[in-house]
Amino acid sequence: MDPKDEKGKIWHNGKFIDWWDAKIHVMSHVVHYGSSIFEGIRCYKTEKGPAIFRLEEHIKRFFDSSKIYRMDIPFSQAEITQACVDVVKENKLQSAYIRPLVFRGYNKLGVDPTSCPIEVIIAVMNWGRYLGEDAINFGIDVKVSSWNRMHPNTFPALSKAGANYMNSQLIKMEAQIDGYAEGIALNSSGFISEGSGENIFLVRNNEIFTPSIGSSILPGITRDSVFKIASEFGYGIIETEIPREMLYIADELFFTGTAAEVSPVKSVDKIIIGSGKRGPITTKIQKRFFEILESGNDADYGWLTFVE
Ligand code: PMP
Repeated sequence: MDPKDEKGKIWHNGKFIDWWDAKIHVMSHVVHYGSSIFEGIRCYKTEKGPAIFRLEEHIKRFFDSSKIYRMDIPFSQAEITQACVDVVKENKLQSAYIRPLVFRGYNKLGVDPTSCPIEVIIAVMNWGRYLGEDAINFGIDVKVSSWNRMHPNTFPALSKAGANYMNSQLIKMEAQIDGYAEGIALNSSGFISEGSGENIFLVRNNEIFTPSIGSSILPGITRDSVFKIASEFGYGIIETEIPREMLYIADELFFTGTAAEVSPVKSVDKIIIGSGKRGPITTKIQKRFFEILESGNDADYGWLTFVE
């Protein structure tokens, strides 16, 4: 949607305010030092009404991310969870992207954030396929980024902090300028890490691999969902350090993420992956993923929070 057409309500510190009244001061700590934590959550239009995917897990990660940065969210997890449901309802959306964000507001300029107020907003918007409909069916072309993900003990990768996305922006912009849909970053040891906003999975010889939690990745909730779906088909996932060249010799590759959902990758650095088409294991996992979301039948997992 064109931003100027956005309307509706944003939840701000417990109250609904108009979209265009949701403003902060330019001297807010977050503007200068990137001090924010956020989540990205999808609400799907299912056969049983709008349903938020893995809301509890997203809110748990929101609080975990904030804990790492000593940011005390002035609401409970239950309150933020309920507020996400309320904001979808208030905006009368069937399907939506939900963006909870906590940030350090305006008080004193200086690196020390502790005197700056902690503010929370939750915005919702209409959102389609992040990488496009063709991406889901036919896959995308990607490159290995010249940028690495954060070295351990610099920017904590397990925290979904706004500042981490300066690195993601470098990966994404480089990929797009070079004519690719996305980039895959290596970590500081040269092993595969993740995309600018996606986790990556690789299939080789009928085994599924993904970079381990220590590979400078965000612990994706879609990643975790794929673990569970794969096990329905009898696959365990090998979480390990993965060298770059495994990308080129993989039989199948796919990205996962709230935005990207389950998206096949058809080439890396112009090397065709497998058959160059969505592979059979990717297809099975993707199909099952969308089946749960579209039918609203999550009886096996309890992944959906119905809005109405
Ligand atoms: N890695 C990064 C850097 C991301 O921004 C995201 C999107 N949140 C992911 C992985 C995937 O995480 P999730 O499946 O929870 O959306």
